[in-house]
Amino acid sequence: GLHLGILGGGQLAQMLALAALPLGVRVTVLEPDALAPARLCATHLHAPYTDAAGLDTLAGCDAVTLEFENVPVEALDALQGRVPVRPGGTLLQRSKHRAREKEELRAAGAQTAPFVVVETEADLDGALAAIGGQGILKTSELGYDGKGQARVSDGDGLRAAWDSMGRVPCVLEGLIAFEREVSVAVARTPDGQTAFGPLVENVHKGGILRTSVFLPDDPQEARAHEIAGRVAQAWVLEGLMTLEFFQLPGGELLVNEVAPRVHNSGHLTQDGGGVGQFEAQVRAVLGLPLADWQPLHPCAMVNIIGVEGRTPDWAGVDALPGTHLHLYHKAWRAGRKLGHVNLVAPDERSLRERLAQLETLIP
Ligand code: ATP
Ligand code: MG
Ligand code: MG
Repeated sequence: GLHLGILGGGQLAQMLALAALPLGVRVTVLEPDALAPARLCATHLHAPYTDAAGLDTLAGCDAVTLEFENVPVEALDALQGRVPVRPGGTLLQRSKHRAREKEELRAAGAQTAPFVVVETEADLDGALAAIGGQGILKTSELGYDGKGQARVSDGDGLRAAWDSMGRVPCVLEGLIAFEREVSVAVARTPDGQTAFGPLVENVHKGGILRTSVFLPDDPQEARAHEIAGRVAQAWVLEGLMTLEFFQLPGGELLVNEVAPRVHNSGHLTQDGGGVGQFEAQVRAVLGLPLADWQPLHPCAMVNIIGVEGRTPDWAGVDALPGTHLHLYHKAWRAGRKLGHVNLVAPDERSLRERLAQLETLIP
């Protein structure tokens, strides 16, 4: 059997391991948190990402992948030449740094929001005007779930926002009046087989993903696949990556950001009747046969996020037809992603009705 190593042991690693096992693939994760989700379904190397003995064990795997973008460079360097790391270092350098990511997306022929790189005081002059007068300042590194971001609409606000971020390197992006947000994933094996995930529509609340919806035959899907395929080829993807898009009122797609891995918006593929995104990443990383992973039925996902003083109506969730519960074995904390509920339905109308009900059951 094959042996897959994963840097990181969070919920994505948990679900990668759950998808790997039936393929005859066993999983080892390197993860410093003793209580990380993947500890229950994979071999857990409980050590820092830079731990020499832990990295030696990963070097003995058939391939290593990751579940978060900020893998320390030291860990990648220690694995270099000993085991394939997929996606590899060059792609990770692009996807973990917003400014570089946007530049490399444009170089690959994809469109992005207008942006200005902010690294020095002088970069602030004229920056807002250059991106259309209203924008979002984002730290170039380490931001997720809307953390490290501030909306700005005048020069003083921009300065104050940059100060409050500690004057670290940032990107100022134009505020996009999008019609909707969508995402797709693309996978590519080392020998160049490419396959795509479904186009999914995403709704965020407070910078965190709340719901994702898949409906067959989305008119934007072919275009999204074309853009994703182009970036995957230009960036020489090995493994799986997910592109988040803003769809403009005219239908045009701007790439918001890229995650070098499975994505929260792809969780609904677990229960839509087709192959799931986690299996797709495992296959791509190990160079196994790969095909598009479309759900066979309309499906949706609602994230379970910790809310002060409230819990989901578990019995109500169970009673709703077509729901599948996925919990991450994490301690409860406000604002933390604790699990998700997938919903599958025979047609669009019942999916929308049941999704509206499901949302009332999950605070
Ligand atoms: P993630 O958890 O997806 O990694 P993140 O912290 O990297 O999130 P973004 O994806 O950049 O943040 O932004 C979070 C959300 O904020 C977006 O999905 C979108 O709803 C909104 N947003 C971000 N940038 C813009 C923009 N330029 N114009 C309009 N809305 C935006
Ligand atoms: Mg992000
Ligand atoms: Mg995002």
